[in-house]
Amino acid sequence: MDSVWLDTPSDDFRSLFKTHPSPMWVYDPQTLRFLIVNDAARDLYGYSHAAFAAMTVLDIRPSDERKRMLAAIQHRTDMEMAQRWTHLKADGETFEVLTYGREIRFDGKVAILAIVQDRTEVNAAQRQVDATQSLLDSIVDNLPVGVFVKDMEKDGRYILFNEACGSIVGQSAGEVIGKSDKTIFSAEQTASFREQDKLAFETAETVYFEETIHTVDGALRVLKTAKRALPAPTGQVPRYVLGISQDVTEERNVEARLAHLAMHDSLTGLPNRAFFSESIVRQVAAATSEKPIALLYIDVDHFKNINDSKGHAAGDMLLRQVAERLQRLAEKDDLVARLGGDEFALVLKMTDTGRAQRFADLLLLSLSAPFDLDGVREHVTCSIGIAVAPQHGDDADVLMRDADLALYAAKGSGRSTYRFYQTDMRLEAERRHQLTLELREALQNGEFELHYQPIIRLNEDALAGFEALIRWRHPDRGLISPAEFIPVAEETGMILPIGDWVLREACRTAREWPEHLKVAINLSVYQFRHANLLASVVSALDETGLCPGRLEIEVTESILLSEVEQSLSLLRGLKELGIRIAIDDFGTGYSSLSYLRSFSFDKIKLDRSFVAGMDSDPGNLAIVRAVVGIASGFNAVTLAEGIETEAQLAKLRAEGYHEVQGFLLGRPMPRKDAMARILGERHSASSPKSLHRRRING
Ligand code: C2E
Ligand code: MG
Ligand code: MG
Repeated sequence: MDSVWLDTPSDDFRSLFKTHPSPMWVYDPQTLRFLIVNDAARDLYGYSHAAFAAMTVLDIRPSDERKRMLAAIQHRTDMEMAQRWTHLKADGETFEVLTYGREIRFDGKVAILAIVQDRTEVNAAQRQVDATQSLLDSIVDNLPVGVFVKDMEKDGRYILFNEACGSIVGQSAGEVIGKSDKTIFSAEQTASFREQDKLAFETAETVYFEETIHTVDGALRVLKTAKRALPAPTGQVPRYVLGISQDVTEERNVEARLAHLAMHDSLTGLPNRAFFSESIVRQVAAATSEKPIALLYIDVDHFKNINDSKGHAAGDMLLRQVAERLQRLAEKDDLVARLGGDEFALVLKMTDTGRAQRFADLLLLSLSAPFDLDGVREHVTCSIGIAVAPQHGDDADVLMRDADLALYAAKGSGRSTYRFYQTDMRLEAERRHQLTLELREALQNGEFELHYQPIIRLNEDALAGFEALIRWRHPDRGLISPAEFIPVAEETGMILPIGDWVLREACRTAREWPEHLKVAINLSVYQFRHANLLASVVSALDETGLCPGRLEIEVTESILLSEVEQSLSLLRGLKELGIRIAIDDFGTGYSSLSYLRSFSFDKIKLDRSFVAGMDSDPGNLAIVRAVVGIASGFNAVTLAEGIETEAQLAKLRAEGYHEVQGFLLGRPMPRKDAMARILGERHSASSPKSLHRRRING
């Protein structure tokens, strides 16, 4: 290397050297002694000029640096390059410096000029920067969200990719940094990311995305990402894309599960009523005469009986199997929903006009196969109501009501069948609605009256009492029979106040009769669904002062078809009061006689259809006889209803019936006529032909 010749340093040089703010000195590479040291060096190292004069350059280095120093002096290579050293101050403190060396001639000899830059502050600042940097790195790495930065000037290569990003994507920062999307993700995914980056650049605002990505190991994750373009630190134009990603897979799964739960029935997994209601609105709105839809309401007939008699677990099992059969018959685009209880709904795409009917036929067929309830084969039937949109209604509410009316009609026509909606069903519904309103008024206006039909005890040919039968004296329509309004009253709950009135009115009337005469009243099954029936009866007896032993309650077999336990406990309660209980219309309701064991009825009233058919059908006569046998086994009184001819009367007497009732013996009559009949009977009580005479008169 060339030397700078300073053989005779000028005063100017000396003065510049002495006062130069950079610490510097000249030393002898042979002896290593300081030849000249400036003030800045003196101040930095803390030695006086005199002290320096007695020292070598090794003295300002800690011992472990001295060997390196000697080697450097010996080779004198790259002296002008800045070199890092640790130096030693007079007070023993070490510090870092950068030195520049240069061979010069000084006072005629080869010497080395060394200029020193104190790095203490610079290094401290650097350490601070480093510490801050590593703190930031650690924060970024430990953030619970994925943070990444891509350099868009370098093909979108990742320059930052924190640990959370790594665990979302399934690759570490080491594997990703320096690479661009296309080497990490699929082509499709890369294209989508590129679109997002572009948008972030174009809008210069934070943009948000949510998407499902395939991780490296093929798993699906839902990512919510905010992206923003960032300029380079010195520039204005965007260069980087900063992304913050959150893995929302779990949240979305939970949301989806909740949404599913809210919209599905947990028993069958089918869409529920909420789902159905939303869907039907949309489907009806979209239905056209070219693309009609059919709404089918399906109801399991007498499901309650199964639930009550076989238990809820069996009921649930049945519903699941019904759901399966419905689903098996439905096509992909059809909707099968469970609306609750035993009600299902189906929305069919009418690919051709006959589809709904064909479907309903198939459905009835499919449901007619026995169900397997834990090894027990159970047969059920279903009723189906069908309405078509837009033909029957272009509004979801209307269509649902139409299907409901059709279902009602299907049930009314004996169940196990389907009905398409027809306009007269709506008229019928309106009539029922009107009737309900009128029933309420009728009760308030006192338009109901009871008629009393005589009941004759055969062994004495004497009046045993009367059955109270309700009539409605309508201001315009005249006398209306109970068959016309009792079913509606039962449906709407009006039967409760009406039944209450019947009870009181009958008790009040019977109170005026001689004590040996009983009054029978009919109670509807619906009245047994209300636990306060017992209280009603007690208060009616209390108010009227009628002895409970004179009241007879007639119930039909259907009372033992559902909610049996409640019915039985009410029946027992009534019986404990001393009231007598009769089964009405015996033989028409229930196929099983086993219920007779669960409650001991006081009387069996043989339905009048058996009496009417006695002559023509020997089967009927067999039943007429069998009932006598059954009743005697249970110690119950037998009564035959609907006696219209002498021949019937004679036959029933011969079969051993205890009591009879029918037009032959007296039609239902108003209260005052009943009283007249009672008085008439008293007057002629002595005559042996009394029964016959009264019959002729009655
Ligand atoms: P039910 O309890 O079986 O009453 C007997 C029905 O048969 C009465 O009809 C009666 O008029 C009729 N009947 C009696 N003898 C003969 C006969 O010889 N030939 C024919 N063809 N019919 C005869 P009604 O009064 O029209 O009552 C019909 C049904 O309405 C009753 O059948 C009963 O189930 C119900 N009902 C009547 N009153 C009430 C009531 O106050 N409450 C409740 N819940 N139901 C009632
Ligand atoms: Mg009756
Ligand atoms: Mg009857």
